[in-house]
Formats: sequence, structure tokens, C-alpha cells
Amino acid sequence: MSNGALGTTLETPHVPAPRGRLRDEPVGAPKRVLLAAPRGYCAGVDRAVIAVEKALENYGAPVYVRKQIVHNVHVVSELERRGAIFVDEVEEVPTGSHLVFSAHGVSPMVVQSAAERELQAIDATCPLVTKVHREATRFAKQDLQILLIGHAGHEEVEGTMGHAPERTILVNSPDDVARLEVDDPENLVWISQTTLSVDETMETVRRLRERFPKLQDPPSDDICYATQNRQVAIKKVAPQADLVIVVGSANSSNSVRLVEVALEHGARAAHRIDYSSEIRQEWLDGVATVGVTSGASVPEVLVQEVLADLADAGYLAVEEVRTAEEDLMFSLPKELRRDASGNADARALGGRARA
Ligand code: SF4
Repeated sequence: MSNGALGTTLETPHVPAPRGRLRDEPVGAPKRVLLAAPRGYCAGVDRAVIAVEKALENYGAPVYVRKQIVHNVHVVSELERRGAIFVDEVEEVPTGSHLVFSAHGVSPMVVQSAAERELQAIDATCPLVTKVHREATRFAKQDLQILLIGHAGHEEVEGTMGHAPERTILVNSPDDVARLEVDDPENLVWISQTTLSVDETMETVRRLRERFPKLQDPPSDDICYATQNRQVAIKKVAPQADLVIVVGSANSSNSVRLVEVALEHGARAAHRIDYSSEIRQEWLDGVATVGVTSGASVPEVLVQEVLADLADAGYLAVEEVRTAEEDLMFSLPKELRRDASGNADARALGGRARA
């Protein structure tokens, strides 16, 4: 629990060793990059990162953050450098300190533990995750059994389950459906993690409905706009791409899904990287068209580094493939609006410069 020494379940940020410049080898066809858009930062990530920055500015270092504020190695190491300390659990934080809850959300038990330690909690849970928490609470009050489609062990899933622990069953994949045991097949509702594959989730729902015809739907999609938009864009790029490069960290659910979606939709190969220096020369053998995208927690500067390295390898023509415009913004967590002097409440989020 210190800068540079994250707890056991947090991925240790690292910058890979430098690699020589990529070589420009002939491939028998014009080389180009198809750059998916939208890509990169979503409104919830932007808000969460600004919340930590603002907390450091308002209260000074250290500011504690429970879990990674967003699932990106580069973002976490940058914030560590500025004085954020990432911890696994509330119990590691000194009494009375400032503690930020990550964008993935927390269970009510975590909120209670922070209050018991008299921590100054700042809740950077993405409002679209909070929406799912509210659904879980409401469905539990209605005595419905909740089938939560999501990945075991993901922080968002733990937080959502914590809002209705007695009433929620986790469904990890379509194959889980056949094994499910429910109390009352007449009183079931499904909800989901926000960062899943849309297609796989719909397949899970289809199988659930086959088994439980009275299954109720949530009032609106739980897979968030950013996850959906990034998948739609890469679906358009993938059939034309010999190789897709997804910038994003290994523990970023939506980034990992982008690799899967690219392969399912025709990309000949797809790789996830944290940093451009992880691109291997042999990935480019015979590759004319490279698709590039990034997960919702990835700063654009990392994508630009990929484009610069690909330019070294002869991929100078960059064509943007845009499938949606995004302009959603969320205001800062209320604790920061309350504490800030001046009019921090009016500070626009989600629209800051993304170089
Ligand atoms: S990926 Fe979606 S749910 Fe997660 S922080 Fe971004 S907008 Fe919110």
C-alpha cells in the first residue's frame, strides 16, 4: 500500500522496455490504418480521473483510491506519480483520509466501512453503473430474483451484487444458463455488467428466456453507450483488417471484449497492448490494413503513439471509420462540487481536450 507498491490484486503499472523502430517491409499492397471512432475515454472514465486529479488539487497528496480508479495501467501510474495511493480495501486507509471510490462502483458495505473509519469518501462511481445499482435495489424490493450477467471477480459485479446480495445470481456466460438454479422461475429479472459484449449478452438473454419464459427485462440497456459504440465501430473496421490493435489494459473488460469482437467480425488477427512498444514486427508480416481502436479507459495519447510507430512501418495513410458521435458529460462527484471553491459544479467534463 504505497506509491509504486500496489496491493496484491492490483496490476502493477509498468512501462515495457523500449523496442527498436518498426521496419517498413513491403507487403504487396498499399498500407493503411483504419482508425475506429468512437474509441478511448468515455464520460465515466473522464469524470473519475478528473475526480482524483481534483481531489489531489483540493486536499493535497496523498489521496487514497480504492482499487484502480479505471482499468488502465498508464492512467494509474500517472496518478500515482502525482500522489494517489491505490489500495485494495478501505481497511488499508489511515483514519480520516480522503478516499476515492473507483468508476466501477462499490457495494453499500464498502461505503459503510469507509464511514466507520471516518474517511472522507469521494464517490467516482460512473453514473451508468449507479443506474444498475439502483435497478438491483429496486428489483430486490419487488422480491424479484436478479440474474446478473457479468464476469465473476470484476469489481463492478462485486459492487452490483452487494446491492442485493440475497437476491442476485451471477450468470457468467451463455453456457451457465443450463446449470442455473432459481427459486421461482415466474419472478426473474435480468440485468448486466456495463462493459460486456453486446452479442454474447443477447445470446445469454436468449437462452435465459428459453429456460424461463417469464423472465423480465430491465427498463433500458445496462451495457453502456461507450461499450456499445466502441464495439459497433470495430465491427465495421474488422472485416477490412488484416490485423486489429486494441489499446487497453488486460483487466479492462471493454478492451478485452474489443479484441474478441474484432476476431468474431473478420479481423485476421487482433492483439491488445498497453503501450505501442508492445507491437511486434512479426505481427505486421504481410499486413496491408491495420485496424486501431482503444478501450474506454485509454487516453488518446497512447493511440497516437501507436499511429506514430505504424507510420515508421509504412502505414502512413490513416482513415477514420466513425460510427457514432459522443457528447455525453457527467458532472463531478457531489463531494468535490461541495468542497470546491468557485464554480467547480459548472466545470465541463467529458469534453476536455483529448490530444
Ligand atoms: S465504460 Fe461505460 S459504465 Fe464504464 S465508466 Fe465508461 S461510461 Fe461508465
